[in-house]
Amino acid sequence: MSFDAYLFDAGGVLVLPDPTVLAPLLAVFGGHDDLELHRRAHYAGMAAKSRARAGEPEWTVYDVAYVRVVGVPDHDVEEAADLLGSTRTARLWRYPIADSTTALATLAAQRPVGVVSNASGQIEAALRRAAICQVGAGAGTRVRCVIDSHVVGIAKPDPAIFDHALVHFEGVERHRIAYIGDSVTMDVESSTAAGLHPILLDPFDDHPELDVARIRSLADLL
Ligand SMILES: [Mg+2]
Repeated sequence: MSFDAYLFDAGGVLVLPDPTVLAPLLAVFGGHDDLELHRRAHYAGMAAKSRARAGEPEWTVYDVAYVRVVGVPDHDVEEAADLLGSTRTARLWRYPIADSTTALATLAAQRPVGVVSNASGQIEAALRRAAICQVGAGAGTRVRCVIDSHVVGIAKPDPAIFDHALVHFEGVERHRIAYIGDSVTMDVESSTAAGLHPILLDPFDDHPELDVARIRSLADLL
């Protein structure tokens, strides 16, 4: 797997919904506070969301899967999932995935990189604040673009969102650009439709049936 450029999804690829906030929130329902378990819960939620073919604004199936994985018992799942759904706002997508931050820095030294995210106008500042990446100079990795769906007015799965990134990658053929995301429906399908090469970040092997390149960590790209 070698490409001329890399584009990354942000949620679930560079950052997670902050488990240091969500773990105490769910503890009252019997949820475990182990942050690694919360990381696992995110990908279980994304897999459930993709299997249900839930659209971008539909997160109930994610919330239910998430609270079950962290150990909320059946009789409290509905209430815990509801609280998770109302608390997990856009600004909570801010907890850095450590091996992603490291791999991004190494990759960016070799190839041009950028970010394309379904977000709410906040993701560029969140990535900069977490010292993950930014356009121009800063504490994180320098990237060519951070495309936020709210800012550009187009969201995945509409493949047209990628056009906003591709203007920063002139001269690179689309099929030589990998797009790494954690959603089958939002990321794999939309980047395929845009003519890019999709790669699914699937750390817990939730999609063994899928005929698409899968990695367990961004470090697998190195
Ligand atoms: Mg994502």
